Amino acid sequence: MEENILPVHPGRARKRARNESQWRRAQEKAERYSAKDLPQVPTCNHNKKAIYECKNLTLADAKGFHDGFYAYKTKQAQDAFLLKFCHVTDVQRRRPRAGTQSGRQAKYSTKLSLKERIPLPLLHVCQSAFLGILQIPSHRIRRVAEVYKKTGGLVKEKRGGDHTSH
Ligand SMILES: [Zn+2]
Repeated sequence: MEENILPVHPGRARKRARNESQWRRAQEKAERYSAKDLPQVPTCNHNKKAIYECKNLTLADAKGFHDGFYAYKTKQAQDAFLLKFCHVTDVQRRRPRAGTQSGRQAKYSTKLSLKERIPLPLLHVCQSAFLGILQIPSHRIRRVAEVYKKTGGLVKEKRGGDHTSH
């Protein structure tokens, strides 16, 4: 009877439909994390005492950082990239008083890497400049920073896929 349980050749009949849906899902996932807009050069005006150096950024700097980020096609890899440039500090959150907004206190600062400017590869920029260059919503940095503080590690991918090997 053993000859009846020959393996089915992959790509045949029913198997194929599944491969196609897997492929499409992978495509959609890749698109979700690819660049949609061009980097914005920051236009913010910090006062002279501010530590931010947004004004010193050129379009080439912004584009280089943007492209470096989007060279990574998965959320996990991008989050790892973000963590390298978000300095997560351990600021105690003040207990919000009734009627005030909570969580206003900064728990991380953002820095850009500018490889071509060694020996000053890191440029301290404000968060809106950082987000404008990468064209990402602020909650992505906030989430990376919060999970990092809680776990000391990376944000886990929750949208299916491989959970163990990375
Ligand atoms: Zn700024």
